[in-house]
Parts: sequence; C-alpha cells; structure tokens
Amino acid sequence: MFLGYAIGTVSSIHSTIDLAQAGAHYGHLAIPYSYNLGGWANLQVPIASLRNGEGPTVLLMAGNHGDEYPGQVAILKLWRELRAADVAGHLILIPCLNPPAAQAATRLSPLDGKNFNRCFPGDPQGTPSELLADHLTTELFPMADVVIDLHTGGRSLTFVPTAHMHLVPDQAQRRAMLAATEAFLTDVAFLYADVAGTGLLPVEAERQGKIVITTEMGGGEVVPASVHQLCQRGLRNVLAHCGVLRGPVTSREKPVRWVQALDREDYRFAPESGLYESCVDLGRTVEKREVLGRVHFLERPDREPVAVLANADGMLIAGRGPSIVKQGDCVAVVAHDVDARELS
Ligand code: CA
Repeated sequence: MFLGYAIGTVSSIHSTIDLAQAGAHYGHLAIPYSYNLGGWANLQVPIASLRNGEGPTVLLMAGNHGDEYPGQVAILKLWRELRAADVAGHLILIPCLNPPAAQAATRLSPLDGKNFNRCFPGDPQGTPSELLADHLTTELFPMADVVIDLHTGGRSLTFVPTAHMHLVPDQAQRRAMLAATEAFLTDVAFLYADVAGTGLLPVEAERQGKIVITTEMGGGEVVPASVHQLCQRGLRNVLAHCGVLRGPVTSREKPVRWVQALDREDYRFAPESGLYESCVDLGRTVEKREVLGRVHFLERPDREPVAVLANADGMLIAGRGPSIVKQGDCVAVVAHDVDARELS
C-alpha cells in the first residue's frame, strides 16, 4: 500500500477555509514562495465561500492581470454585501488572483514575472503563478459549473466595455455561454480569438466543459464611474441568471450588439517603435484601409509617420493605451457585426 504522496500530484497551496462547508466562510489561499527576507513566506490570496442549499457552483474571479480593477472592486463589494442566505448553491469569490501585481499596478506578477493568463494548466512544482494556475485547474474548476474571470484591457489596451467569449465547439456549452454573456447587459458582446499565445485561464475552464463568462471592462488607469456601475450591475445580473444569486433577472430592452474579431488581421500591431497617435475614437465605425493611427518618430522629426490601417470594415473595439509603442504592440482591434441567430 502506498502511504506517502507523489510529488507533483498534490497542490502545495493551502486553503484556510473548507469549501465543502455550508454557510459563509472567509479566508485565503496560501501560496508558498521564498524571497531573501522570507524563506517560508506565503502569498495570501483572499477567498470567500458562500454555500446555501441547492444550486450551481460559481467560481468568480478578477485580478488575473493586476492592473485591471473594475472586477476587483465589484467582487470586493459582493464579499461585504452578500450573506449565505442570498445564495442558492455555492458562490466562491476571489477578488484578486494576483495581489502583488494589483498593488504594483502591473499586468505581470512582480514575484515571478509571469503573465498569469498564460500559465494554464499550471505546474504543481512551478512558480507562485504556476502553482495557483495548477490549483485552479485541479481543485477549483472541477467543482464549478460556471467560471467567471473579469478583465479589462489593463494599461496597454482600452476596450469598449464588453462581455466576451470564445466560440467553443460544444453546442450546449456554447448556447449557455452566449446566454450568460448577454446577461452581463453590456451594449456590445464580443467574440474574440487568441492572437497572443496559449495557456489562458478561460481556455482551461472551457476545456473542462464549464460555462465561462469573461469581460473587457474598458482599460487604462482611469476607470469612469459608468464602467464600475456597468460591471457591478452586470455581474449581479449574471449571478442571478446563473441561479446562484436569489433575485430577479433583468433583460436588456434593446438586443445586444454581437461583434467578432476572429481573424488575426483584425488585430493591428505597431509596425515600428515610436509615438502612437490614435486617429479614431473607440466604438466608431471604420472602413477598410481607414487610418486607425500613426506612429511618429521622436528621433526623426523629418520622417513621415507610419500609418496603421483598418484591415476591413468594422468597429474599433479596442485601442492602444500608452502613447509610446514598441514594434509589435497591439494598437487597435477591428470587430465585425455578426447575427446572433447564427451563433447558436
Ligand atoms: Ca486582461
């Protein structure tokens, strides 16, 4: 009989609360790491569990990228406002997956330099980000019916505030995700493609068959009050739509506008490094070959700027944040209207 444990099969992350217990419980996930003044340190990621009666299990997270705050604020509010009696089923809250990055206002983790949204499925013997990704993949996703991961474009991109999703191949999963995405009540819903690598949190959750709901709630350092309000209202409505939050479900008066950017050419990149001038406001309709922006050259005032053109007719759904760009930075995303009836 095997009495030990096999290294690599057990999460090294300790949860201070038991997610199997009914009622409301508040604690943290303790992720072991070392630094020069802390050999036995642990990174503490707050987690709450609200469990009451029958219903779905919903895992609700934000702060996957540190510098994306509307979702973190929305979950912090739910943490303080909700009681177990408000829940039907099981609601797990993680307001911020990457507290060091949020506190440093960075996309990448200051602890290990990782982009958390490229760490999946994770590594049980990896860095703190990889350990947490592994814990989500092996412990938390399997118990969930619905996985919600709230993003913005961070400091690098600003989006028209949207709920967004992948077009997953499984028809039942796709229909459930389309309905849940619409329940976020944004004016625009967005189908996106992964043009920047693999290892995304939502892709792992989708692979496990979960109903995955994600957002791009704007971006940049400045968060307008209206975006916070949209995020908080939409999130509560999605939780009610899923059945985990008791209360009425609201529907939009006007149908949501579905758009997609599924072609790599829809994602426009800086052809050279320089100073970027955006020439089109977010949300505006653009025509094929319209100038979306220009890269200027501080060291060469005599050089004509290089234009970034729209690849096709569509809507500018996301645009560059910082004016300084490096060659290869994404500076614009052009999305195209789709008929929602053709999606399911
Ligand atoms: Ca993001």
